[in-house]
This record gives sequence, C-alpha cells and structure tokens, in this order.
Amino acid sequence: MATNRIVIAGAGLAGAKTAEALRGQGFDGRITLVGNERHRPYNRPPLSKEYLAGKSDRDSVFVHQDGWYPDNDVDLRLGVEVTEIDRAARRVVLAGADDLSYDRLLLATGAAPRRLPVPGADATGVHYLRRLEDSETLQRVIAQARRLVVIGAGWIGLEVAATARTAGLEVTVVEAARLPLLRVLGPEVAAIFAQLHRDHGVDLRFQEQITEITQAGGRATGVRLGDGSHLAADAVLVAVGVEPNVRLAAEAGLDVHNGIVVDDALHTNDPHILAAGDVANAFHPLLGRHVRVEHWANALNQPAAAAAAMLTGTASYHELPYFYTDQYDLGMEYTGYVEPGDYDRVVFRGNTEAREFVAFWVRGSRVLAGMNVNVWDVVDPINAMIRSGGQVDLDQLADPDCPLDEVSVD
Ligand code: FAD
Repeated sequence: MATNRIVIAGAGLAGAKTAEALRGQGFDGRITLVGNERHRPYNRPPLSKEYLAGKSDRDSVFVHQDGWYPDNDVDLRLGVEVTEIDRAARRVVLAGADDLSYDRLLLATGAAPRRLPVPGADATGVHYLRRLEDSETLQRVIAQARRLVVIGAGWIGLEVAATARTAGLEVTVVEAARLPLLRVLGPEVAAIFAQLHRDHGVDLRFQEQITEITQAGGRATGVRLGDGSHLAADAVLVAVGVEPNVRLAAEAGLDVHNGIVVDDALHTNDPHILAAGDVANAFHPLLGRHVRVEHWANALNQPAAAAAAMLTGTASYHELPYFYTDQYDLGMEYTGYVEPGDYDRVVFRGNTEAREFVAFWVRGSRVLAGMNVNVWDVVDPINAMIRSGGQVDLDQLADPDCPLDEVSVD
C-alpha cells in the first residue's frame, strides 16, 4: 500500500529531523508532527550549558526557523498529546482534537526525567531539567540562590553543577556510586571528571543515599543523607537519569523493553510503526545487539534511516553512538559503546592532568570506544578504528607523536 499519510508522535529533535528527512527524500504526501510541548522542536543540549548560563538566546535552540514547517508543508500541531494508537484502524487519538489516520507512524516520544521517590521530592525549589521552561526556571535559580544541591552525577547533573559553580554558587553533588559517570566511563576516566569538579570547588559526595528532601513551609531547605547528616540548600536539582516515554507503545501492544524495541531499520513489531531517538531500543548491526542511545547525535541521525524505511521499506542505521559534553573549560566527544566492565584497560594518549588527551577503551588490542578531551578533529579516525574491529598497535595508540590515522590496525 502506498504511503501517503505519515504521523510523527513527539516533536523533539528526532521528530523534526524525520519530517525534514522525509521531504529531503522526496516524500510529497501529508506529514503531521504532533508534540505535547508548546514550543516548536528544539535542541536540549544548550539547556544545561550555554543557554542555562545566559550565553545564548532562545532563538538559537530551535531545530528549524518558525517558517520552515509551513514552507515544507509539515502540519505541526503543538501542545497536543497523542493519547492512543489504534493499530487495527491505523489511527492515533489526540487529546482535544480529531483522530489522525496514518500509513506510517513514527514514535519519537523521547524520554522524561526519572523522579526521586523520597519524602519532600515535590517541594517548591526541587527542580528537574528536560524542557526549555525547566532551563529558564533554573536560570532564575542560579541568579538568585547561594547553595545548590545536585542529586546525581550523570552528564546533566555535572553540566548544571559546572554552570552553577561558574556563576558563583556553592554546589554540592550527591551520588550513589563511588564516582561520577561510573557506569558509562569506568573508574579510570570517571576519576578525571571527579577531579575536574573538585578543582573548581564543587563538594562531591559519593556513595551517599538521599533519604529526604527537607522543607519548611513547602519549600526545599536541603537534603538528608543516609547517615542522617543534612546538606542545606536554597534549591535542589534532581538529575538521576531518564525513562523512555513508552506508554503509548506499551498500551498498543508493541514490544517494549528498555524503550520501544525496533530493528536496524527502526521498525517496531508492527511494520506500519517505527521509533527513533531516545525512546528507541534499536538493533545495532555493528554492535550485534540492541542499544538505546540517549544522545543528541542519535536523535539527529536516526531520522534519515527512519524516513528511508518508511518510504522504501529498507534501511539500516549503523552509526556508532556519539556524544559530547562541555563543563568549565573541558570539552569532549565520545564515540563508541562499551558495556560496564566489558573492556580490559583504558589507553591514554596525551596529558590527563592538563585534561588534554584521548582515552581508548580497549579489549585485547581492539578499540571499543574513544573519548577526545580538549583534542579536536579526531573523531573520524577514532570512528574508523572502532568500525574496523582490527587489532591496534597499542604503543602507537598511546603515542601522541603518531597521528591517529597512521596507527597500525590489522
Ligand atoms: P525528546 O527531545 O525528548 O523529544 C520528544 C518529544 O516528544 C518531547 O517534546 C515530548 O514532550 C514529546 N512527547 C512525548 N510523548 C508525547 C505524546 N504522547 N504526545 C505528544 N508529544 C509527546 N545529548 C548529547 O549528546 N550531548 C549533550 O550535551 C546533551 N545535553 C543534554 C542536556 C539536557 C538538559 C538534556 C535534557 C538532554 C541532553 N542531551 C544531550 C540529550 C539529547 O537532548 C536527547 O538525546 C535528545 O533530545 C533526544 O531527542 P528525541 O527527539 O528523541 O526526544
């Protein structure tokens, strides 16, 4: 059956880029992009970095200019929730608007911050960061507060800690694990991020549990730790990870396991329904397993494959996971994928103390992932090295005088 009507549920980066890719690939049928936020699709990375710091303006966060949607005949419905998928009728139900029929449906519903199940978690002054409004609220907090407690030393927690600390706040980060980012980076590189924050005067509390967010008159006054001690704060940021928004898919009987399960063409177990971005747990041909990637580049790049799959029935998304962060004067890019504990060692090239280096996660002499810290224009050779799956000369790998694209790989 011909594809004439495409509905995209979720107007974030993945949704917007899928609409763009469909038009770019010549689709001239109807595209309806439905999002429950008030804003047209925007990029979230600036919300914990330059936009939060007041260094960039609101216009710079949007994926497209306002006029792009009408100019490309994309029917953008904002502030509208998709409440149900009727798979038999190939129709989605919208809150407060008429149902939409589809030939193909893309679920790009993203993820939402995990809530903290402790007393006081809903007090005024307890913040989460996912949406533009959250970032604007935090901007005001940073302008007015003196002491911020961040719960969770993941990427968002650490980026906000860096922004707030740079603005002069006293910042404490509380984390259950023994190091920040331990699951993603392992202890060797996680320790470097801990040191970075210590050097900037952040009080890091590891292996701590939060038992309560204390409050007075409904306003957060700090957090209580497992040993009974209290950290006073004017504001608390909860940054303990995200959960994929799978409700629609689960209720429609699609396969859901750590996100919406899709193949490498991003098809769910219903051939008319696909998923992309943070919500998709996609089979990765190179890694030989399903991965759900909660990063910007994935939401940026999967849409071209999703569009091709919708229009031609075949596609294969096999970009390696890639992400970046900026904290203080440290900028880094990470390419590849390593399961916790799945590598033998980390090989460093460059100066870790000066925070100018590349780290490689290695199994045997095979490179699984690489992170360049304040070293630029090396993602392509790192990517090629990982993709080749070959045996790498580890001495050359560690030697900054040997250009990365000349490191011998068998
Ligand atoms: P989302 O951006 O979550 O968009 C999904 C949209 O769908 C949302 O608007 C949601 O409200 C909407 N929606 C959900 N359910 C429904 C429904 N039923 N009906 C209608 N609409 C619905 N990644 C990096 O690689 N580097 C970074 O430095 C980085 N920094 C980040 C900083 C912050 C503060 C945040 C929050 C994220 C950051 N990320 C970063 C991650 C990156 O932003 C995400 O991977 C990306 O936003 C995922 O895009 P998406 O379109 O899949 O999902």
